[in-house]
Amino acid sequence: MSTLKKEVQSRKTFAIISHPDAGKTTLTEQLLLFGGAIRAAGTVKGKKSGKFATSDWMEIEKQRGISVTSSVMQFDYDGYRVNILDTPGHQDFSEDTYRTLMAVDSAVMIIDAAKGIEAQTLKLFKVCKMRGIPIFTFMNKLDRQGKAPLELLAELEEVMGIETYPMNWPIGMGKEFLGIYDRHHKRIEQFRVEEDQRFIPLNQDGEIEGDHSLKQSGLYDQTLEEIELLNEAGNDFSSERIAAGDLTPVFFGSALTNFGVQTFLETYLKYAPSPQPRKTTTGEIDPENEEFSGFVFKIQANMNPAHRDRIAFVRVCSGKFERGMSVTLSRTGKSMKLSQSTSFLAEERATVEEAVSGDIVGLYDTGTYQIGDTIVGGKDKIQYERLPQFTPELFMKVTAKNVMKQKSFHKGVQQLVQEGAIQLFKTYRTEDYILGAVGQLQFEVFEHRMKNEYNAEVLMEPMGNKVARWVEDQTIDDRYSSSRSMLVKDRYDQLVFLYENEFALRWFQDKNPDIKLSNPMDLS
Ligand code: GDP
Repeated sequence: MSTLKKEVQSRKTFAIISHPDAGKTTLTEQLLLFGGAIRAAGTVKGKKSGKFATSDWMEIEKQRGISVTSSVMQFDYDGYRVNILDTPGHQDFSEDTYRTLMAVDSAVMIIDAAKGIEAQTLKLFKVCKMRGIPIFTFMNKLDRQGKAPLELLAELEEVMGIETYPMNWPIGMGKEFLGIYDRHHKRIEQFRVEEDQRFIPLNQDGEIEGDHSLKQSGLYDQTLEEIELLNEAGNDFSSERIAAGDLTPVFFGSALTNFGVQTFLETYLKYAPSPQPRKTTTGEIDPENEEFSGFVFKIQANMNPAHRDRIAFVRVCSGKFERGMSVTLSRTGKSMKLSQSTSFLAEERATVEEAVSGDIVGLYDTGTYQIGDTIVGGKDKIQYERLPQFTPELFMKVTAKNVMKQKSFHKGVQQLVQEGAIQLFKTYRTEDYILGAVGQLQFEVFEHRMKNEYNAEVLMEPMGNKVARWVEDQTIDDRYSSSRSMLVKDRYDQLVFLYENEFALRWFQDKNPDIKLSNPMDLS
């Protein structure tokens, strides 16, 4: 096997999708501890521990306590090189969160077993599903009383429409949590039992051979009954169906008590796909192709307040990235030497020397890159598929505070929109600017950057949540527009209605059944 092939096959690149508080930070920390990338729990987010402040680059991030280094984390485990890409939650949720999912090869979905599927998890899940990326589910917080495991599985199948295969099954829960019945490794892993006695092997029939105190518990018998039910009526295990994103393996555990995490990690690494060929506008590129290529999936601005630099996050897709190499930006045909590049480690930012498909490199950017740009090492100007545009849900009217600064205002808006930081709409007649975003943070970043990079202070007037629908029929005009269904244009002059809410949308549709409305990215 060539070294490049070997290296690519060792890469596992994923994002964690979850609703705030499900346990993403806790699980991430446990994984980083296993990988030796951090030495103490509580170091991933300053927000919670107050400890982590080594490189808070961006002012806004510092204020909010988000650390940029935690947006990509890398560690080695058992011969694999693991890259975890962060998907921020809460108010930090933005289009970047969605776009990050375009750069991973699999996703880990954490669900709080007491809450089941929550809104943000479902949205992120839909983006993964759309891309067909494999999803591994971790049912968290089993040390607390939660929903019945069968109910949780039914929820996954019914609400998310994905088939499930429980890799293990909880024996009790909450105060009576005894451990997990590991179907995959044919063993029982006991909760809060010393390392040397933690695992109990199972015999051919899937039972504990001989005497064991666990057998005295009624929960053991109940678990055996449920396992029998799963064996008879549940889905079969299929690594192919997992890789295709049609079946999700489900692991039960408790991130906080570090229970079931190592088993999860090891099984995940075995079944999660390594980097796969990626589509370009002219065919697929193999990750083992010797020619370097990658695409920009995220641009983070003003990381260093002393300079006005940004970092473009590049997902390597083929060949080998080497520091100082020359690349061509496919969109413009411009060549450049990449002398300053960064890789991401949990505790420090290290200069990257070499990276292969699956790895993420950060390039210092002075305004060269746009979201979705492809860079290549060779002569072929390939272009990876355009990243989808996500339907914004929050809107804001924006004007220049100082009328004398109109020029820099328009320049700033155009550039930030082009870069993909925010989406632009215009009112139907007067073409006043309306900004659209999927998360509030995008507006704050916009405002901050307009002031700092373009010297243009802005006035923002919130319009609140809207339901955006594109109109195919371009003969529609503002006779159909009202305060509850506002007709606007997107940046390509396509007509869009912004409805006050779902109810207003349905009302409009009933009144105007001939007007065809579309939502190019339905994640609701
Ligand atoms: P995030 O918002 O998804 O990153 O969630 P965190 O990892 O910060 O966890 C949210 C809260 O749930 C914290 O108070 C954690 O200590 C707690 N938590 C996380 N995992 C578990 C678990 O397995 N069991 C229990 N009981 N609490 C947990």
